[in-house]
Amino acid sequence: MPRLAQTDGLTEDQQEILKAVKQFVDEKIIPVAQELEHADEYPTEIVEGLKELGIFGLMIPEEYDGLGESLLTYALCVEEIARGWMSVSGVINTHFIVAYMLMKHGTEEQKRKYLPRMATGEVRGAFSMSEPGLGSDVSAISTKATKQDDGSYSITGSKMWLTNGGSSTLVAVLTKTDEGADSVYKNMTTFLVEKTPGFGETAQGVTVPGKIDKMGYKGIDTTEMVFEGHQISADQILGGEPGKGFAQMMDGVEVGRVNVAARACGLAIRGFELGIAYAQQRETFGKPIAQHQAILFRLAEMATKVETAHQMMVRAARLKDTGQRMDVEAGMAKMLASEYANEVVEDSFRIHGGYGYSKEYEIERLMREVKFMLIGEGTSDIQKMIIGRNMLKDYALKG
Ligand SMILES: Cc1cc2nc3c(=O)[nH]c(=O)nc-3n(C[C@H](O)[C@H](O)[C@H](O)COP(=O)(O)OP(=O)(O)OC[C@H]3O[C@@H](n4cnc5c(N)ncnc54)[C@H](O)[C@@H]3O)c2cc1C
Repeated sequence: MPRLAQTDGLTEDQQEILKAVKQFVDEKIIPVAQELEHADEYPTEIVEGLKELGIFGLMIPEEYDGLGESLLTYALCVEEIARGWMSVSGVINTHFIVAYMLMKHGTEEQKRKYLPRMATGEVRGAFSMSEPGLGSDVSAISTKATKQDDGSYSITGSKMWLTNGGSSTLVAVLTKTDEGADSVYKNMTTFLVEKTPGFGETAQGVTVPGKIDKMGYKGIDTTEMVFEGHQISADQILGGEPGKGFAQMMDGVEVGRVNVAARACGLAIRGFELGIAYAQQRETFGKPIAQHQAILFRLAEMATKVETAHQMMVRAARLKDTGQRMDVEAGMAKMLASEYANEVVEDSFRIHGGYGYSKEYEIERLMREVKFMLIGEGTSDIQKMIIGRNMLKDYALKG
């Protein structure tokens, strides 16, 4: 068993699930990831396999036909999947966030309507806060939901960067509504927008123009979404009440941060595996490069970062599972894991010498994919703001 990134205290069930996921990653993801990524092809067969494994319903409670597993189990599965191909973890990430938001904030009717079909992967989730003019500054959203005389709403505006924007069928969309509140944060509402999968007009007044061409994170669709007078019933407000959208989204993003930390850990593990294997095969000056102290030290630093990031991510997930506050820990785990993953992957790239620059080598793909870890679910600057402000509160000078 490899020594790095182990997790103490897992139950037998957790170990069984992880074993099955690892086997799936080794047999069904790693062998095809390069080819699919280079062709920017959607991993349809892999997604079907994940459905069979129950991954789409991993955290959905058993009463709604899911496996009722913890955030830790979910995060460890994500880490493993990202080790195989980071894009595949993106297929389940937004789905998981929407399911989590429904579990936490949905009405009983909404839970019954969506969660059982989300557990099987029949309904697939995307979530949408960002717009062309904003990402970090969510308070600046301009997509507006206007209340009609009959109590329904009409949504107009442009959303940007929807992961799974094309393939999803249920999108949690943050909009501005007029609740007459004095804080901008209380004048936001999350709607559950149903659509058909695909591109073009996917629902009345909802257009998904096409896939955004990205440097990495290929295979998976990232899209814009344009709303032009989309008519939606008030029943589709998450939780049934307007004005709570910002808090609901931030709750979703907080668990999403653990998820991105887990993905970064997976990329770092794979970067390390590739680097340490290559360092033992490649010879220069009459010996394997791993025997040169500069490379040995680099491997030692990489291993330490892989281990540290994993343990931080596990701690944040466990805090959430025990119902404790974890905004700081999730921010720390996300920032540290994504920064370390970037460093580990770059070190592995350096170990590969010129071959690392060739598309034949997996590390070239990891170099492009790992950059996204610095951005998704809030940049490192935004994590520092969250951590720093909380530290000032906790360590405020008395008197
Ligand atoms: C591939 C991809 C997939 C995505 N998927 C989704 C999705 O599914 N749903 C969704 O809603 N969004 C999604 N996003 C959007 C993502 O969340 C945003 O890109 C991210 O939050 C950053 O926002 P921005 O791009 O507008 O950058 P900006 O907010 O414009 O930031 C630009 C720079 O300024 C820095 N900065 C901003 N404000 C501050 C500050 N106060 N102090 C210090 N520095 C600051 C940032 O750190 C960054 O370096 C995705 C993005 C990408 C690239």
